[in-house]
Amino acid sequence: MKILISGGGLAGLTLAYWLHQYGMTPVVIEQSDGLRHDGYGIDFFGSGYDVAEKMGLIEQLKTQQIKADYVGYVNEDGKPIAKMEMDLMRKIMNGRYLPLMHWILEEALYQALADDVEVRFGRSLTAVSQTAESVTATFDDGSSETFDLLIGADGIHSNTRGLVFGPESDFAHYLGYTIACFAVPDHYGIGQAWKNYTEPKRQVGVYASNQDDEVITLFMWEAPDEGHVPHAERLPRLRAAFDDMGWITPQLLADAPEDAIYMDTVTQIKMPEWVNGRVALVGDACGCMTLISGQGASMALGSAYILAEALHQYDDFATAFRVYEHQIRPEIETRQEKARDFAKAFVPGSELGLQVQKVMMKLLLRDAFKGVLRKQFGGASVLNRALKRLPASSDGVLGYQLDGKLRDVDYQTLSLDVTDVLATHDHVNLLLKMESLEGIDLPAMWDDVQFGREYGRSVHKFAVVGDQRWSDWVAKAARPFYAQQSRHFPEKELDAAWEWLRTD
Ligand SMILES: Cc1cc2nc3c(=O)[nH]c(=O)nc-3n(C[C@H](O)[C@H](O)[C@H](O)COP(=O)(O)OP(=O)(O)OC[C@H]3O[C@@H](n4cnc5c(N)ncnc54)[C@H](O)[C@@H]3O)c2cc1C
Repeated sequence: MKILISGGGLAGLTLAYWLHQYGMTPVVIEQSDGLRHDGYGIDFFGSGYDVAEKMGLIEQLKTQQIKADYVGYVNEDGKPIAKMEMDLMRKIMNGRYLPLMHWILEEALYQALADDVEVRFGRSLTAVSQTAESVTATFDDGSSETFDLLIGADGIHSNTRGLVFGPESDFAHYLGYTIACFAVPDHYGIGQAWKNYTEPKRQVGVYASNQDDEVITLFMWEAPDEGHVPHAERLPRLRAAFDDMGWITPQLLADAPEDAIYMDTVTQIKMPEWVNGRVALVGDACGCMTLISGQGASMALGSAYILAEALHQYDDFATAFRVYEHQIRPEIETRQEKARDFAKAFVPGSELGLQVQKVMMKLLLRDAFKGVLRKQFGGASVLNRALKRLPASSDGVLGYQLDGKLRDVDYQTLSLDVTDVLATHDHVNLLLKMESLEGIDLPAMWDDVQFGREYGRSVHKFAVVGDQRWSDWVAKAARPFYAQQSRHFPEKELDAAWEWLRTD
């Protein structure tokens, strides 16, 4: 299968790597002329860390980490208000955390596939057309080529999304802030740290990069949605927004490079569908969560991995696309909601909000609160979902393996799958292969009740497969609340369970 990927960023390169591993032929087009060595720093953990580990990249990335020992909040004289050691962040993430420059991760992903996958730099799409059998892409050099599938991994301002799904304005949800970043030599004595200074409606952060004596800035301020700002206008806008700001802000603005400022709005992307025929989207292109979630990079890798795995597991690309979307969409939507709620606390709008932020920082950024912090910032890895759809699922019969702790996102995936089947069938039959059940969260239990209420009448047959003592009990308890008929099958009778479900 020949698959065109538009965008050689984190999602695109990860997807290309895994498609190649699974014996498919990905081709990547990337609009920039080569690898970039600029940009910003990212916290990298969760799904992304798991995928990078599977690619054998972690040891190399560890040697290229950002050189910050702590994240601190300072007052206008630079005196510390609150501080979190990076070691605490590592503890929160169970040691599976790396602060990285975005380009370092991108370069590592590129090197992992450079010998095997064709990457065409300086190339972009200008038109896309598709039939039931293929997708034809027209490039900005005027040439055209036909592929089996096209995946848009071209970031928040996705070109593929614009060509196939509609204008950005249909899907963009502005969170009320603009950000800007640039690199400068460390004339300010920041050292191995990440320091933030906040005033109502605006914040400036400065942190060590992975290069000696270089720091990266992160400006964030409340502003109306100004869309794309041309490079020449960025520095004047930044100076206007941060006029009279305390701490080292005047020096930073005096030293800012005129032509190398990253500037963008803080905007989430939400789409009703991530798939249109033979075209699908991945990463920020369909589910940008913004920097406030701190998980865009991690989820870009995780989502791309799940998409590649689905295309490998299912012969039918349409099913693979649905499985991918149903599994990842709830994960993205949950994180988007958290980021939206957290946005106001990130850069408070008033003096009072600022005082509350200071108190919270002093209180929470400690070892004793690592559980709370993990809940707020840590996202469970999408590679470790308790509920995994079995590839043997077929028209009207959905089968899942249950291994671990069910979460609300698992019920959301299940609902999406079942609703999908009910669009063309009167009822659905379910199989649950139970490996282990590590207890259910309270919200997930509530989702279980909701699921039963919503779909109980539509679930005709329910087969529970497993040798655990309680698997028999689950089958008994399922009727009539969860299904019209239910039966328990020992593990060695898995085939019989499928057969029972497939016969009327
Ligand atoms: C300041 C900042 C801080 C962040 N901090 C974090 C963090 O701490 N943790 C975290 O996990 N995430 C963080 N993120 C988010 C994270 O960087 C993104 O979510 C992630 O990069 C998304 O990956 P992607 O591959 O979807 O898009 P990108 O990485 O943006 O890649 C898209 C690629 O597509 C290319 N492209 C664009 N248009 C075209 C076209 N027309 N044709 C061909 N190619 C094209 C681009 O050049 C780029 O290479 C942060 C983002 C910002 C801006």
